[in-house]
Amino acid sequence: MKRTLTLFLCLLMAGMAYSQTRPVIVIHGGAGTILKENMTPEKEEAIRSKMEEAMRAGYEVLDEGGTSTEAVVATIKILEDSPLFNAGKGAVFTSQGENELDASIMDGRDRNAGAVAGVKHIKNPITAALAVMTSSPHVMLTGEGAEEFASQEKLNMVDARYFYTENRYEQLRKIKEREQAEDAEGSIKLRSNPETADEKFGTVGCLALDKNGNLAAGTSTGGMTNKKYGRVGDSPVIGAGTYADNATCAVSATGHGEYFIRSVAAYDVAAMMRYADMEVGKAASTVVENIGEMGGSGGLIALDAQGNVAMPFNTAGMYRGYMKGKEDINTFIYGDEE
Ligand code: ASP
Repeated sequence: MKRTLTLFLCLLMAGMAYSQTRPVIVIHGGAGTILKENMTPEKEEAIRSKMEEAMRAGYEVLDEGGTSTEAVVATIKILEDSPLFNAGKGAVFTSQGENELDASIMDGRDRNAGAVAGVKHIKNPITAALAVMTSSPHVMLTGEGAEEFASQEKLNMVDARYFYTENRYEQLRKIKEREQAEDAEGSIKLRSNPETADEKFGTVGCLALDKNGNLAAGTSTGGMTNKKYGRVGDSPVIGAGTYADNATCAVSATGHGEYFIRSVAAYDVAAMMRYADMEVGKAASTVVENIGEMGGSGGLIALDAQGNVAMPFNTAGMYRGYMKGKEDINTFIYGDEE
């Protein structure tokens, strides 16, 4: 009798272990005119190794039984702390020469979500988005109010100078120079979005699937170089730049935010899966095609609850990668790599 019981328990435990979902992490580090001829081997290596470090941090959280939202935050924090990406430390400059950061997170288990926009002193905006989701009744907080909340939550606050990087400041200077030249020629009116002139979107995003089969998505950005008037893009907008629902998928976008807001991009991937029964790859590429038809550029990453990954984009390249096992880690930069 005792032996039968032990055998039964062993089988039950094996069954439980077997029924656990295989963890997956997917990231992007922005899309744009990313061409091999413009890249040095050192820079390429630095970007790939930072993407790997970030994915490994998130994967470890999942491997140890952590939740998908915990993994998303662990991964994005590393990318925010790196000057290589347009988020946190590497954020681009506004027209005023400041850094205004946006971030959002969504939990696919219950579709709870949190976001901050236009913050200037929060070291890791993704942690503020998480705090909005878990410790406030709200979904989005902006500017000074968001910072007051972050301070109350004892998040890491920094002086605005922390976000200064020479390289980003130089990008702003060049765009302004070009803007002035075109203004003098009168051609600026022909170009509706002067802030896109550097044609690189370095936003970061992460999707995770945990052992319990729960999805989560997060996105963090400095927005677009030379942005004005408190402009906010898609990244902190739930449904545009970020979305997660266990019933369909998790999505994080990067690109010209106005187009992603207008097409409700991240949610549209989920909606196509839910209402048109599309698989994640087809839904994701259809959304990116639609954005292209509207004149927008960028890409997105999507992950379904079975662990299927899609990473479509309509730009020359997109920093992207996924990790499905300790040895199954992949990074891609250029268009023809996968
Ligand atoms: N989507 C971001 C924005 O429009 C920019 C980016 O992806 O780099 O603010």
